[in-house]
Amino acid sequence: MGADLSHEKVQDTPAGDGSPPQSTPRFKTAAARIRPKGPAVGIDLGTTYSCVAVCQRGKVDIIANNYGSRTTPSCVAFTDRERLVGEPAEMQVGLSPENTVFGVKRLIGRRYEDSLVQSDLSHWPFQVVDGGSGVIKVQVLYKGMEKSFYPEEISAMVLSKLKQVAEAHLGRPVTQAVITVPAYFSDAQRQATIDAGAIAGLQVLRVINEPSAAAIAYGLNDSSQRKRKRNILIFDLGGGTFDISVLTVQDGIFEVVATTGDTHLGGEDFDRRLVDHLTQEFKRKHKEDLSQSKKAKQRLKVACEKAKRTLSSNVTAIISIDSLYKGVDFHTTVTRANFEDLCSDLFQATLHHVERALEEAGIKKSQVDDIVLVGGSTRIPAIQRLLSQFFDGQDLCKAINPDEAVAHGAAIQAAILTGHRYQNLQNLLLLDMTPVSLGLETVGGVMDVVVKRNSPIPTKETRNFSTTEDNQNSLFLQVYEGERTLTKHNRLLGTITLNGLQPAQRCMPVIVVTFHIDYNNILTVSAMERCTGNHNQLTITDTRGRLDREEMERIVHEEEEYRAQEKAEQEKVEALNSLESSTLQLKRVAVEEKTLDDRAKRRVLEMCEETAAWMEGNQRAPKKEYEERKRELEDVCYSIITYFSMDGEKPSEEEGRKSKA
Ligand code: AMP
Repeated sequence: MGADLSHEKVQDTPAGDGSPPQSTPRFKTAAARIRPKGPAVGIDLGTTYSCVAVCQRGKVDIIANNYGSRTTPSCVAFTDRERLVGEPAEMQVGLSPENTVFGVKRLIGRRYEDSLVQSDLSHWPFQVVDGGSGVIKVQVLYKGMEKSFYPEEISAMVLSKLKQVAEAHLGRPVTQAVITVPAYFSDAQRQATIDAGAIAGLQVLRVINEPSAAAIAYGLNDSSQRKRKRNILIFDLGGGTFDISVLTVQDGIFEVVATTGDTHLGGEDFDRRLVDHLTQEFKRKHKEDLSQSKKAKQRLKVACEKAKRTLSSNVTAIISIDSLYKGVDFHTTVTRANFEDLCSDLFQATLHHVERALEEAGIKKSQVDDIVLVGGSTRIPAIQRLLSQFFDGQDLCKAINPDEAVAHGAAIQAAILTGHRYQNLQNLLLLDMTPVSLGLETVGGVMDVVVKRNSPIPTKETRNFSTTEDNQNSLFLQVYEGERTLTKHNRLLGTITLNGLQPAQRCMPVIVVTFHIDYNNILTVSAMERCTGNHNQLTITDTRGRLDREEMERIVHEEEEYRAQEKAEQEKVEALNSLESSTLQLKRVAVEEKTLDDRAKRRVLEMCEETAAWMEGNQRAPKKEYEERKRELEDVCYSIITYFSMDGEKPSEEEGRKSKA
C-alpha cells in the first residue's frame, strides 16, 4: 500500500478545533442549528430491529423504548390517520401489510435495477417502484392518498423514533449519533445512511462497520484479554445481513484484518423458508393457496418468526392462526429438526464465509482465539453447533448480548468522538477496512485496482496516468468497485473527465489520480495534470443516484412537518384526555361532596354529562376547543361548587382547584 495510509484512532478526540471528524450531509439540518445538549448516541440501524445506546461516565446503557423493549422494530406503517413507527407499526402489519414498510436497509443506497432488489421485489408486501432513473421509492397509502418515499426517508423515520427514545431517557435533546452499517455497505449505502440521519435531525458523527462496533464492545467487556495478541472472529448474523470479520486485538488495539459476508442472508431468509413450507402444508391440508392474500402471508410470516425464536429454546413450536385464509383456521406444530432441515443450506453457507474470512486474514482456524456471536439469529442452536464444530468444538463467546453488542460499541465510539476520556476507553484503537476493491478501467476493459479490498481506512492512494494519443486534450476515467479482473463484471461508480490538457505527445502528460477514502468509507476521486495543476474531482455521490440537494431539502422539510403534525396530534390527544379526566373528577366531587346542596350537584352532573356527550361526538376537534371546553367547564362548575356549598363548609378556591388536579 502507499505511504499515505493512516489509521482510525477511535480514542482521538475531535481534531484541532474540538469538532469531531464530520460526515458529509449536504445541506443544513435542524441538528446543525440546535446547540447539542444531550450526549451523542450509538445507533445500530438494523434490517429488522434497531437499537440505541448511550455511553456516559464510561458506562453503556442500552435504551429501552416506551414499550420497554431494548430493540425497536425497523418498521413504519402508514394508516388513514397517522404514521406509526416501531412496535405499533409491527403490531398492525396484518391489518395493512401493503402500507407497512420494513427491511428498507435492503433497499437503501441501491438502484432499482440492482439484482438483489429485483430478487426481493416479489417478497415485499408493499410496493417498491422505480421512482425515475432507477431511484428506488416505496409506495403506500397514507391518509387516504398515494405517497411515495425514498428508503432514506423510511430509515429516517426509524432513526427519528430512536432519537425520541434516547431523548425521553436522557431528558435532553439528542442531535449527534454514530450509526453502524454492515461491513459490506458500499459508498452509496453509507452516504444514504448519513442522509437518513440528517433527515431525522441527527448529525452523523461517523458511520462505522457493525463488526467493528461489536469489537469495541467486546474489547471493553473483556479487558483481561488485552495483554497478548488475540485473533477474534466476529460472526454477525442478523435479520437481513451477515457479516464476518477477523480482528486482532492487542493491548486494547483492534485491527480489522478481514471482512466478508453476504448482504442478503439472515433471519428473514429463515422466516421465508418456514413461510414457504407452511404455505405448502396449508395447500395440502386445505386445498387453498394462501399466498394469494398479502394479509394472510404477512400474518403467517409474523407467526413463523415467533415460532423460529421459540425453536431456539424449545424443540417444538405451535403455530395457531384463526381464520388465516378464506375463513380457514391454521394450526400446526413445527419441530426444531424440521426447521433446521428447511434452512440447512443457508446455515451451511455461513461457514463458507467463515472460511473465506480466515483465508483473507491469512490465519488458520486453530489460530482463532475467540468467536464472538453478534445478531439475533446467532441464538439459533444449529448455527452455534455448526460454528463450534467448524472450530473443532471451540466454545463460542456469548458474553455480549448479541442484539445489543453493535449499539453498545457505537455508543462508546460516539462518546469517544465527542471527547469523552474515561479510563476504560483509553488505548482503544480501531483500524477499519475498505470492504471492496476500488480502481479504474484501463485498456481492454481491465480493472486497475487502486485501493485494495481490506485496506485500512482512512486512506489515500495515487496513480499516475497518461494519454494514449498525441495532442489528446481530455482524459476520461471510469471508477469501478469490485474484485473481478474485467471491469464489465464489476460495478461502475462514476466517471470523471479532465478537459483542457496541454497539447503533448502521447504518454507524455502526467495525470495524477488520487483515491481518497474517509473515515466513513466514502470515496472521492480526483485527477490532476501535474504540469498545469489543472484538476477535476469526481463527486461520486452525485453520479450514483443519491438524492439531490433540493430533494433532500424537501424531505427534511417534510419530515419536520410530519414531526410537527405528530406532535400536534399528540397534544390534541392529551388535551382531550385532560378534558375527560377533568369531567370525571368534577363528577366525583359532585357525587362525594357532602357540603354541596342537591341543586348544585345536579347542575354540575348535568354539565359533566353534556361535556361527555360532546366529547363523544367530537373526537377530532382542535386542541384549542378541548382546552376552552375544559376551562369553561371548570370555571362554571367551580363557581357552582364554591357558591352552593353549605355555609361554613364551602371549599376554598385553592381547595377546589386542588381537588380538580
Ligand atoms: P438483529 O438484526 O441482530 O436484530 O437480528 C434480528 C433477527 O434475529 C430477526 O430475524 C429475528 O427473528 C432473529 N432472532 C431474534 N431472536 C432470535 C432467537 N431467539 N432465535 C432465532 N432468531 C432470533
